Amino acid sequence: MPGRLGLLIQSLWNGKAYIVDKLYAKKSLGQNFLIDQNVLMRISDIVNITPDDRILEIGPGKGAMTDLLAQKSKHVVAVELDKRLVAHLREMFRQSENVEVVEGDILQTDLLQLLGERWTGKWKVAANLPYNISSQVLFKFMDNRTCFSELVLMLQKEVGERLVAKPSCKEYGILSVFCGLYFDISRELLVRPGSFRPVPKVDSLVLKFRVLDTPRVDVGDEMFFRTVVKGAFAKRRKTLWNCIRSAFPYINEKTLELVFRQCGIDPRRRGETLSLDEFALLGKALSRP
Ligand code: SAM
Repeated sequence: MPGRLGLLIQSLWNGKAYIVDKLYAKKSLGQNFLIDQNVLMRISDIVNITPDDRILEIGPGKGAMTDLLAQKSKHVVAVELDKRLVAHLREMFRQSENVEVVEGDILQTDLLQLLGERWTGKWKVAANLPYNISSQVLFKFMDNRTCFSELVLMLQKEVGERLVAKPSCKEYGILSVFCGLYFDISRELLVRPGSFRPVPKVDSLVLKFRVLDTPRVDVGDEMFFRTVVKGAFAKRRKTLWNCIRSAFPYINEKTLELVFRQCGIDPRRRGETLSLDEFALLGKALSRP
């Protein structure tokens, strides 16, 4: 039974002498478990933990990273959706007073409440994110960014590249603009498929997000700004003029011409060529045409 043997070896590797049984990976939950001890150590170094740090871990899986985080920090809150893994983690950390395993869906979790009830300072985040929900989790972090000082996230490489892409690159998109508004992001580590079990088909990238005290530029109403950016990227092959016309049909053509002129933006450009500053200008001008 290679699966069971593999789990036993992994458990021994982590210094825990017990068999983790029946924990086959669920593809629907993006379960690719990190088994490479060097990569785990490097990620925990990137999180740069001090003994006073409180850490939120998303999707702790079988607890390999949780263990390292707990050794270095004051408190780890680990949110896991899979009941089987929750039971395994609670058993694994039953003697660790600073590890709290919370069963739940991170997308449905009220982060302000979960973290604020425990500590009102700034938390750090460590997560090897399930790839199918990574964009939604990123938006969640943006909306709850006041809870955090830093996030260290492992993402599918292609998604990670999009977050740090510059205007006019093919990877540049909605997430690049929003992440640029709220975070300083650095590429930290490329992780190959062989570091996981089961082996995924794609490379992964570890990125560090430092949360800015205030958004990088003044965009006025942030929700309206998001509508503008989403509208501008809605049809990549269309000009800004066409995209913005479709997104804001109630603004008449004359007013729209004036808006573009005021901003000094050529409406024949494509959304993907606009910098964050230009999006901010356009958003503010559109909000009061
Ligand atoms: N951190 C572990 C590791 O590196 O080995 C596991 C990472 S695995 C890519 C993703 C983990 O997130 C799995 O344990 C999965 O069950 C969990 N997960 C998936 N969707 C989730 C959700 N919506 N909320 C919380 N955890 C979730």
